[in-house]
Order: sequence, then structure tokens, then C-alpha cells
Amino acid sequence: MKKKHKIELVAPAGNIEKLRIAFLYGADAVYIGYPGMSLRAYAEELNFGDEEIISKEAKKAGKKLYIALNAYLKEADLKKAEAAIKKINVITPDAIIVSDPGMIKIARNLLRCGIKIHLSTQANTLNSSSVLFWKESGVDRIILGREVTLKDIRMIKKVVPDMELEIFCHGAMCVSYSGRCLLSSVMTGKSANEGKCTHPCRWKYYLVEEKRPGEYFQIESFARGSYILNSKDLNMIDYITEIAKAGVDSIKIEGRMKSLYYIACVVRAYRNAVDCYHAGKKRVPKKIIEELEKISHRKYTTGFYVDRDSDSDMQIADTSAYERKYDFLGIVEKSSKNTVTLEVRNKIRKGDSVEVIGPDIGCDREETINLMFDQNGGVLKEANPGMKVKVRFNGCARPGDLVRKKNE
Ligand code: SF4
Repeated sequence: MKKKHKIELVAPAGNIEKLRIAFLYGADAVYIGYPGMSLRAYAEELNFGDEEIISKEAKKAGKKLYIALNAYLKEADLKKAEAAIKKINVITPDAIIVSDPGMIKIARNLLRCGIKIHLSTQANTLNSSSVLFWKESGVDRIILGREVTLKDIRMIKKVVPDMELEIFCHGAMCVSYSGRCLLSSVMTGKSANEGKCTHPCRWKYYLVEEKRPGEYFQIESFARGSYILNSKDLNMIDYITEIAKAGVDSIKIEGRMKSLYYIACVVRAYRNAVDCYHAGKKRVPKKIIEELEKISHRKYTTGFYVDRDSDSDMQIADTSAYERKYDFLGIVEKSSKNTVTLEVRNKIRKGDSVEVIGPDIGCDREETINLMFDQNGGVLKEANPGMKVKVRFNGCARPGDLVRKKNE
């Protein structure tokens, strides 16, 4: 049998807890932002005073760590960039993710041997000629722009077979080319290219004629307004085989600011889907695809990958709200027989019907919260976020399992 092309699964990690969950739920690698140098100014960035923990966690799990320094540099940033690369040499991640050619030049001069250079999606690489250019510039992997089609990727891989290619497979999308949007800068003074995007593309818009100030005309007729720039979320879980056949080496989940629950669910869904592909299954089982309906998300799209001409399907004009069918109640800290210690993240009430989930979707099961105790053994009728409680389950649970409840 022909050997399957292996696909790497890369997940976001906004803090140490999310890094651990991403690894536990099946990520092969995680990406984090370098403080002040990546495009997520508001993410709970890892504290690089703790670089020993970061390296230890990745090594202990036998996984890879990528650090994003993908901001575009101003002249005043050059010294800061050199200092960042020197610090990176101490942290020793597997790769750095960069956008600015200036940063690539600095990295090529100062970066420790063995740490690879990945080109960020912010560089909008969409064709084989660009890939060849970046290859000659010393880049080891290209994270392609979301605007490529699978057909384009196949062509690129054919022309540059030795270049590693990565794509985003899941998460939010910009209405503009990544890295080329000035909406937030213009409307709020907060630059998306400095990781401070205020997401004006998700706001509600009206049409105003210049001589009739105050008269707001609906642009499209939806009861809740018109969200003319609001993009759907990307979801490629049903296309793993096609992605692999196109020659993609690595798929990445967007969302360093997403919750721990979101990361666990998306990572395990894609882990299970990629494992199905590696096991030779043609399609991803429905149960795995449905898992992505159980997180907070906008309506889904396959973006440009499958059919670039279907871009009318990429926007949701009637709302910018998220769909949310489940609440994340808590995470299992430890368990002994069928008594489980839970860190509570959302209110839990006696009598709640819950689902206990772990890395393997096939092992999900239902439980009812019948008995709940505080740390001193006092019986509880409800528990609030921040508490640690003991609950009695019929089955067992493992540390890192999550408890969720369907919204009524
Ligand atoms: S405003 Fe919207 S399209 Fe522009 S950078 Fe922010 S999220 Fe992307």
C-alpha cells in the first residue's frame, strides 16, 4: 500500500494551560506569540521569563513549538527585533514565524542553527514564484495565504516539492487579505498589524447620503441589521484527504485568544480527522464533523480553498453573533475511582445533565451531577466559576477531561 502523506496539526496556545490542553488533545505542535512582536497584542502571551517551562512542556510531550514574531517592523523596531532573536536562541523553539523580510534578514544573521524560519500567512504567499523567492531568502516553510485554492497548492507543490507548505484549516477569517487591512487603524486608531484589531468588519453598517445626515438606510433587508463585511469562519474538516493530496504538510488552527474549551474541541476534532486519513479512511465520520458545531462559532465556510468563485458564500450579512450550543462547565483536575475534582469555569447545578469529553471523541459520555461537594466535604447545590468541587460520576474521568452542558 502507498504510504500516506503525513499531516502535522498545529494549534494556538495563548497561555501555558492552553498549551497543555492543545498537546493533550492531539496537537503535534503549538504556536505562541512573542510579546510585542506578534499580531496578537491582547492574547495572554506566555511569560518568557518562564522559557524553561515552555521548552520543558514541549519536550516532555514530544511536540514542537513555533513562536510568532510576525509583526511588520518599523525602523524603530529593528533593535527590538535583534534582541528578540537573541532571546529566541535561548528559548530554542523549533521554528519562528515571521512576515517582514527585514526580520528574515535579522534572523538569518543571528538565529541559532537548527531553529527554522516559517513565513507567516501575513506575507500573502499565493503562487510558486513567490514560494521560490522565499526559499531563496532562507525560509524553510511557507504558511500560504487563505486565498489560495487546493488546485493552486497542488501546482505550487509540484513546482517547489521540497518546500514545506502549511495552511490555516479552521477559525476566523479577515474580509481583507491577512495583514492588509487598515479598517481598525482608520476607524479606531488601533492597528491590526500591531495585533490590536478592534474588528470593525464585525460591526453593523448603514448607508447615509451626505445631504441627509442622521438618516440611516438599510443596505440589505435583515431584521437585525447589515453586517456587510462580516466573514464566516473557516472549516476544512471534511477536506483532509483533499488537503493531503494537494501536498500540504501542516494544517493550522486559528485562535490564540480563543478559550481552552474551544481549543480542546477543535484540536481533538482535527486530530481524529487527520488520524482517520492516516488510517486510510476516505471520509471523516459525521460525529467528528459535528463536534465543531459544539463550540462557539460563526457560520462555516470552506473559504477559497475548494472553489474561489463561491465567495458569495463567505459572508454573513444578517448577524455577527456567534452560534453557541454548549457551555463549558469545568475541567477535571484529578480523579479517584468515580470521585472527580473539577475546576469550575461556569455555574454547575445539582441535577445538571452533562457530557464528559476527552481527547478521544469515541469515549465521550453523559453523566448527571447528583452529588457535589466542596473541598471540606460539604454538600453543594451549585458551584460557581473559580471553585474546586468534588463530583460523583458513574464512570471514571481523567485529568484534563472537560465537562460541558447543552444549552437549553
Ligand atoms: S477589521 Fe476585520 S478584516 Fe480587518 S484585520 Fe480586523 S478582523 Fe481582519
